[in-house]
Amino acid sequence: MKAKTDTADVIIIGGGIVGCSTAYNLARRGARVVVLEKEDVAQEASGRNRGNVRLQLRSRLELPIAMEAVRLWESADEELGLPTEFRKVGNLLVTYHDNIAEGFGKEAERHRDLGLDAHVLSLDQIRELVPGISQDIVSGFLTTDDGHVNPQKATWAFATAARRLGADFRTGTRANELLVENGHIVGVRTEGGDISAPVVLNAGGVRAPELMKPLGIDLPISPAKHQILVTARMPLVTKPYLRCAGPRVSFGQTADGTLLLGMGPAQSVGFDTSISRAHIANIMRETIRLVPPLAAARVVRAWTGWFEMTPDDHPIIEPVESVPGLYVSAGFSGHGFALGPAIGRLMASLILDGTPTHPIDGFALSRFQGEKAKVEHEPDSLVARLGRLTAEGLH
Ligand SMILES: Cc1cc2nc3c(=O)[nH]c(=O)nc-3n(C[C@H](O)[C@H](O)[C@H](O)COP(=O)(O)OP(=O)(O)OC[C@H]3O[C@@H](n4cnc5c(N)ncnc54)[C@H](O)[C@@H]3O)c2cc1C
Repeated sequence: MKAKTDTADVIIIGGGIVGCSTAYNLARRGARVVVLEKEDVAQEASGRNRGNVRLQLRSRLELPIAMEAVRLWESADEELGLPTEFRKVGNLLVTYHDNIAEGFGKEAERHRDLGLDAHVLSLDQIRELVPGISQDIVSGFLTTDDGHVNPQKATWAFATAARRLGADFRTGTRANELLVENGHIVGVRTEGGDISAPVVLNAGGVRAPELMKPLGIDLPISPAKHQILVTARMPLVTKPYLRCAGPRVSFGQTADGTLLLGMGPAQSVGFDTSISRAHIANIMRETIRLVPPLAAARVVRAWTGWFEMTPDDHPIIEPVESVPGLYVSAGFSGHGFALGPAIGRLMASLILDGTPTHPIDGFALSRFQGEKAKVEHEPDSLVARLGRLTAEGLH
């Protein structure tokens, strides 16, 4: 067997959507890439999420990246040669409460100003999209450009396309240490030996902080547990991804008819993976209240995953100033899958050209450091708060 090369142009730590999409974009441009993944591709958040490619209630900083990502998702199957199951289905936020509904008009207008197709819907109009919706719902806020994707297939599609272009994926290989000489990154230590490279990208998701600590760099990324239920296949329940303003129950229907159910806010309970039967009961109770015919839905599986939260719900993306050659792209705060294809392009451009495809100043780690540290959530209207996945629902 041919020996593995122990040098690369770029080492990527993490085989999630960020690592795989970046590997694909770097390999496409001729870089020699090694991806280190401690388990397998799409084993963490990128394989456990609900595939909501949400534009609705995205912040000003993330929206241009999310809009580019939608364009890239639309052509991804053809480009990668594998199915991602991306479909443009829209996002529909509904409420039982008049005081919340009042905010929908303002949000729809703001979204239209940002270039999105956005509408306020009456109960009758909602019923055309979600025939079984509760009579108690008073209004809906629909954006139609959002999409849905199969996250496991999509991550594997990027990984497979990257491999075809020569990227070397080393699964079951943990990065144990970042190697630094004379202040510059020079490689990564693994159990199987050292790999040298002048550039290393830490795309380790919720685990990204662990490798940075020995360098004295504190990445404020922490886990928030989110539990998902999947039902047996059902006839059409909803075309758009449906979210309720409060309680924060939500679900999308996959291309093959299963429903992916969940209820926020995500919980800060450390690296806990336990499934709560009480939470399953809560999700089902609120799902049935929202769409009463779902009393007939059969739950076939449950799982949990961790949102990788930063204090302001935005990722940390930067070339690490104190260690030339080291880059970070992590902490996407529970809504990063949607951005995956655009983040891969952004990172490849940042690494190879020194210029990102979108401004990243707002994603610098320094925003959390020193006297100027700021934790801003924007836009800050009542309804816009629901863009944050750890916020309580609106009642
Ligand atoms: C339940 C749930 C639902 C979600 N729903 C949505 C949604 O609908 N829409 C959306 O846009 N986002 C959603 N998200 C968020 C989304 O999944 C993440 O933002 C995104 O997948 C992050 O991708 P990533 O590549 O940064 O991290 P990850 O997918 O976590 O990948 C990081 C990888 O790095 C590996 N790794 C870490 N440390 C090391 C090391 N030292 N050595 C080697 N490998 C290492 C890990 O094993 C992991 O595979 C959801 C998340 C969860 C948990």
